[in-house]
Amino acid sequence: MTDLPSGVERREFDGRERLATEGEPVYGEPTDGTWRAWDPNRSKLGAMFELGFETGFDGGPDERVLYLGAASGTTVGHVADFAGPTYAVEFAPRPARDLVSVAEDRTRLFPLLADARLPEQYAHVVEADVDVIVQDVATRGQARVAIENRPFLADDGRLVLAVKARSEDVTAAPTDVFDRVRDELSETYEILESRRLDEFHTDHLGIIARPR
Ligand code: SAM
Repeated sequence: MTDLPSGVERREFDGRERLATEGEPVYGEPTDGTWRAWDPNRSKLGAMFELGFETGFDGGPDERVLYLGAASGTTVGHVADFAGPTYAVEFAPRPARDLVSVAEDRTRLFPLLADARLPEQYAHVVEADVDVIVQDVATRGQARVAIENRPFLADDGRLVLAVKARSEDVTAAPTDVFDRVRDELSETYEILESRRLDEFHTDHLGIIARPR
């Protein structure tokens, strides 16, 4: 079993062992004291931890994270519980409002209402050399988004990418879509691990990569 980052633990909730982080609850998840369960069915990153991906996350207050596609903060709230400065990009105003509420309890979480395809919109805010980029945008052009955001990533950093096949092409076979995404990414990133997340998220691929 791959090590979890510091600040992410397996703990028992209602007799079942589950991933957990320490922080204020966000979406009605089970809690135990200061700990709250992390539901891999609602989180691609949570699924990747459950499935033993080597994400490259260490955890701790010095680890800088850029999170693309933050939505209402379900996953990025957990990230800000265990990592350091966490920049959360979301372009839809409605979920971004919920994200702002999640950030109220988390001093290390910085919500940014911006388009992840236009990194110049947030380049003045995000520190250079982040340790991890997490991407879950579920939109067409997912490889392109990862490539456009490469300049933020430290040379020894990691890209943790969830690819939704149907967002690229509803008619194509997911395996073909995933091949195309991997090919496009490979110009800029070396892919270290690539596995499907179907146990938790149908027709999604998880990718861990590092800059070339
Ligand atoms: N990562 C979230 C979680 O686990 O809690 C769920 C993300 S949801 C699958 C995808 C999100 O990406 C949506 O909220 C959508 O508005 C956002 N999104 C899609 N394209 C985007 C873009 N170009 N820039 C910023 N956000 C984008």
